[in-house]
Amino acid sequence: MPDYKYLIIGGGMTADAAVAGIRQADPYGSIGLIGAEIHPPYSRPPLSKGLWKGKPFEKIFRTASREGVDKHLGVRAVSLDPQAKRVVDDRGQVYTYEKLLLATGGTPRRLPFGGDDILYYRTLDDYEYLRRAAEQGDRFAVIGGGFIGSEIAAVLRQKDQPVTMLFPEEGICARLFPADLVEFLNEYYRAKGIEVLTGELVSGLEGGGHDLRLQTRSGKQAQAGVIVAGIGILPNTQLAEAAGVAVEDGILVDEHLRTNQPDVYAAGDVANFYNPALGQRLRVEHEDNALTMGRAAGRNMAGDAQPYHHLPMFYSDMFDLGYEAVGELDSGLETYADWQEPFRKGVVYYLKDGRVRGVLLWNVWDQVEAARGLIAGPGPFKHSDLKGRIA
Ligand code: NAP
Repeated sequence: MPDYKYLIIGGGMTADAAVAGIRQADPYGSIGLIGAEIHPPYSRPPLSKGLWKGKPFEKIFRTASREGVDKHLGVRAVSLDPQAKRVVDDRGQVYTYEKLLLATGGTPRRLPFGGDDILYYRTLDDYEYLRRAAEQGDRFAVIGGGFIGSEIAAVLRQKDQPVTMLFPEEGICARLFPADLVEFLNEYYRAKGIEVLTGELVSGLEGGGHDLRLQTRSGKQAQAGVIVAGIGILPNTQLAEAAGVAVEDGILVDEHLRTNQPDVYAAGDVANFYNPALGQRLRVEHEDNALTMGRAAGRNMAGDAQPYHHLPMFYSDMFDLGYEAVGELDSGLETYADWQEPFRKGVVYYLKDGRVRGVLLWNVWDQVEAARGLIAGPGPFKHSDLKGRIA
């Protein structure tokens, strides 16, 4: 029976970063990793960005877990007994551990229709499927106007494919950006040749093979050969919950990334943690959090006792537009936009009760630390205090 000093459930970026963290504090302790995908840990962001623009395929694989880690890939952990420190996988293999990390990530939300005719874009296999379809040429429909929807629609269009986007909100990334920037993005995507159907909730799918017809609640129809969806993810908490690990919008961890069960830690997309700068609990589904939190969890499992107070950043590319952002980007908050060039270059501040809650750095680079400083600052901030503050 495999017995590890450190057992990691999950085979993504968080898991790989945890290996790096463990090795900083413990060069020799045995490490096992259980991953549902058949691939070793790889970076997810290039699947909707870099790989489409020529990043070499082999560069996406993470390196910390490449050697010195027993990787059990293509298997799922199905039960956990925190008292006996035992995990069982879907082949009946039993593992024991001293310290366990739950880095189980999330699973795409699915629509109640369409079955396998809709590609819920998340994994390397999804990338390979979509890339082949784009090389062969087809008509694409993209459901969702969030991160996946906005990035995938752009890369498909850059491969000269006809693309229709459909989503219920009034515009692309409408939950994140102020209304005028969202409207700019809608028009920008349209000018690039994408059909952007806003305020459209998909309600059914007809046809089969490469003759698919999406119906919307308002009675519209979108015809496509390939349908891609990015309608959010649900944190994979079932294993934890069944084992008595406390769960509330993700697995609850303390500042050392420990769960309520002895020697069980959690990190990455699945973990719900407290951030002191924002003064609230967060669950963050972005690369920086996966890497920084994974590494911190690994170090802490190996005996360090450092609190995780990092406020994660995130970033995106949409055609030749790009941004970095930090904090709470909620279009429902008061915003103040300090444009150097409207919608092309500038900073948007998100405010609540006179404090900066989030900062969007739109084609403005290397200012994430300055943005974090403002979010941590006590304020109160008026718009005039923010003008020209970050450029
Ligand atoms: P997302 O960013 O949360 O966007 C989900 C989108 O789907 C929203 O526009 C949402 O609209 C829409 N939606 C929800 N239900 C729908 C329905 N029934 N029909 C049509 N649209 C619907 O999630 P995602 O794009 O799927 O991304 C998945 C995960 O990958 C996220 O965790 C994301 O953070 C991560 N990711 C990050 C990056 C990055 O950091 N650059 C890139 C790619 C992916 P409502 O808002 O109205 O619900």
